[in-house]
Amino acid sequence: MQHIVVRYGEMSLKGKNRSDFERLLLRNVRTALRPWPDARAERVSGRILVTLQETSLEPVLARLQRVFGVISLSPVTVTDLQLEAFQQAAIQLLREYESQHPDRSHPTFKIEVKRTNKRFPLRSPEIADEVGGACLRALRRWKVDVHHPDITVFLHIRDAEAHVYGRVVPGQGGMPAGSAGRAGLLLSGGIDSPVAGWLSMKRGVELEAIHFHSFPFTSERALQKVQTLAQTLADWGGKVTLHTVHFTEVQTAIRQHCPPPLYITVMRRMMLRIASALAQQHGLLALITGESLGQVASQTLESLHVINAVTRLPVLRPLIGSDKLEIIELARRIGTYETSILPYEDCCTLFVPPNPRTRPRLAETEAAEAKLAVDELVADAVARTTSQVFLAPEWA
Ligand code: ATP
Ligand code: MG
Repeated sequence: MQHIVVRYGEMSLKGKNRSDFERLLLRNVRTALRPWPDARAERVSGRILVTLQETSLEPVLARLQRVFGVISLSPVTVTDLQLEAFQQAAIQLLREYESQHPDRSHPTFKIEVKRTNKRFPLRSPEIADEVGGACLRALRRWKVDVHHPDITVFLHIRDAEAHVYGRVVPGQGGMPAGSAGRAGLLLSGGIDSPVAGWLSMKRGVELEAIHFHSFPFTSERALQKVQTLAQTLADWGGKVTLHTVHFTEVQTAIRQHCPPPLYITVMRRMMLRIASALAQQHGLLALITGESLGQVASQTLESLHVINAVTRLPVLRPLIGSDKLEIIELARRIGTYETSILPYEDCCTLFVPPNPRTRPRLAETEAAEAKLAVDELVADAVARTTSQVFLAPEWA
């Protein structure tokens, strides 16, 4: 039998927020554990304790590392509240370290005790001395080094039991999936919008992705790419719905009726109008984009201002303060980068005029839309939108 302690940010939450957080996190941890029927997860005062009967540890740790809301994880030995039991568990940990690092002739350790159980008769420094002494007597090659030990043995004396462990694996932090309601992610095939979506998921948002597709100007493969991205995001948060909007008619109409320097601005406004209509239809409370500032010529404050004017929904831009290199690094870590850099064009690349206005004004943009049948185009696009649901394997 093996145990994993799952830690979350209980300190930063109060009252009902805290109990909702714990309930959702426990549900999500249990869902993540579905592939391992012998795994159990229970709440034990401010932590979740996972128990495995036969399953090996590493795949479970790797999966739980991806659950939003988890701050860190440790494989632990659970012992009785007995000094000898702590000593044995600590010695066992050091032995494991030895067998994994046979090259070290004089490995070093330290013992770090946390005693939340104030009724336990010995105090932390005394416990550390007793356990450290037993380790030194049992394992002659080892030395104590309190500054730079090869391994720290953590000993947590809790009310009903103790946890002994040597590893702390970081989680993602954030809020449990499903704790923040649903929002619409404008998902292109590029690098940025999947990352913006992931950052929102990390704060508990359930995503409904909205993709604008201009068949036959953009290929079936461009669409598949976006489907792959939706699946990759779903693998993190459980579920992503993808709404695919047929955008060809809108783009054609813009080309017919608007001045070329404002194509992009008008196109973005049309995207946002259609996304807002879909949001209303599906009960989404905000929209999310991968926009940043200054990254491309069109991403100026003037441009965001003019684009934003068509909607009353909050438009979240999680990447507003990120540099491209940071975004790429995150894209690699979350697994979207390789898909995003596949070459298939999306609808915007095909639509760039030779001299786009980078600082459009609201009045000139509204004038540029005068001949555009905005409401009809929006209604048609919404009516022709198709939807697909992507689920993480264990949610299916
Ligand atoms: P990305 O890498 O996300 O495509 P980008 O740096 O290429 O971003 P733009 O192409 O200017 O920037 O797009 C800005 C934002 O507009 C995107 O992050 C995305 O949220 C939205 N967007 C652009 N094209 C589409 C599309 N075809 N479908 C849905 N949303 C889109
Ligand atoms: Mg793009």
